[in-house]
Amino acid sequence: MPRPILATVHPEALEHNLSQARLRAPDARVWAVVKANAYGHGIERVVPALRSTDGFAMIDLAEAERVRALDWRGPVLLLEGVFEPRDLELCSRLNIWHAVHCTEQIDWLAAHKTHAPHRVFLKLNSGMNRLGFRPDAFRAAWARLNALPQVEEISLMTHFSDADGPRGIAHQLAAFEAATEDLPGERSLCNSAAILRHAASPLRGVGASTLAADWVREGIALYGGAPDHPEHTAATWGLRPTMTLTTRIIGVQSLQPGDTVGYGSAFTADAPMRIGVAACGYADGYPRHAPTGTPVLVNGVRTRTIGRVSMDMVTVDLAPLDAAGVPAGMGSEVVLWGVSPTTGAELPVDEVARSAGTISYELLCAVAPRVPFM
Ligand SMILES: *Cc1c(COP(=O)(O)O)cnc(C)c1O
Repeated sequence: MPRPILATVHPEALEHNLSQARLRAPDARVWAVVKANAYGHGIERVVPALRSTDGFAMIDLAEAERVRALDWRGPVLLLEGVFEPRDLELCSRLNIWHAVHCTEQIDWLAAHKTHAPHRVFLKLNSGMNRLGFRPDAFRAAWARLNALPQVEEISLMTHFSDADGPRGIAHQLAAFEAATEDLPGERSLCNSAAILRHAASPLRGVGASTLAADWVREGIALYGGAPDHPEHTAATWGLRPTMTLTTRIIGVQSLQPGDTVGYGSAFTADAPMRIGVAACGYADGYPRHAPTGTPVLVNGVRTRTIGRVSMDMVTVDLAPLDAAGVPAGMGSEVVLWGVSPTTGAELPVDEVARSAGTISYELLCAVAPRVPFM
């Protein structure tokens, strides 16, 4: 028998979360962001569940090919554009749109031979200082692209550094408006946090609209994560978990006061208690940094991890179940995050991430290859 660990993707929750974005950005088209193998969910599972999206966006050309191989004929966008000139050939052949964020990418396009001109998203560095042309170079980049026979249509995009937090987007929005106000073309600004928190803010420019503009780029909110947790939770944003990571208890110990648990004896019992050993460890992608107290569900009852997470196992406290008279022992269902298949109880991945000092994105992306998916 294989180890009992299993990741389950919930297609109807993906669809539901997409519909929540449409409520907040009713006039925009949605790029469903499927980079990093659809945030760890698997492109082959996610693309069929999101047929009602307007396009799929990713980083890796190989992932764009996988989306096309699933018979998606609609828009596909490379968010970082191409990494070398010959990538443009595949873009031409598969009709893949791509970001243009630096002069080298314009040089490559200018030298590219194609029958079908490309649709490009010209990226403004409005303050994130990762990718994109600075405001003083943006117009010249646009004019150069606009003069190329290889380019069919230029859209304008930027990316926010603080859409989820107190600094907000005003400074970057002002930079975007100043750099693009009189330029034609579709606009794309919002990631999940901006969709949820700022989509209705006004946006000045040709065809003035709201911040949602022509295209939003939705990642984590599709996958049921609240980008601004713990200020808001997935539930308050109306988002449902799209991935459940389950396993089972494969061993039980009864501890006496003074007994310690696991490597480094990181936990010491102060009273008699039962603990369960769950078949999930950091080699499955469960965060090793999750300390004692990280939430976990056993038979649908919320309890906590205790001691250090090891490679293949994590220990859970059975005391809350014993106190509540809920039977638990060998074979009991353990939910690391997601929805309990037997009870429907939910454990948001955001809460596990927070306890481990990270964000839901990282946990979802990190589920290891040895974990079977359903
Ligand atoms: C990953 C990414 C997104 C999606 O971000 P979320 O916070 O997951 O919604 C949007 N735009 C760009 C350019 C990205 O790289």
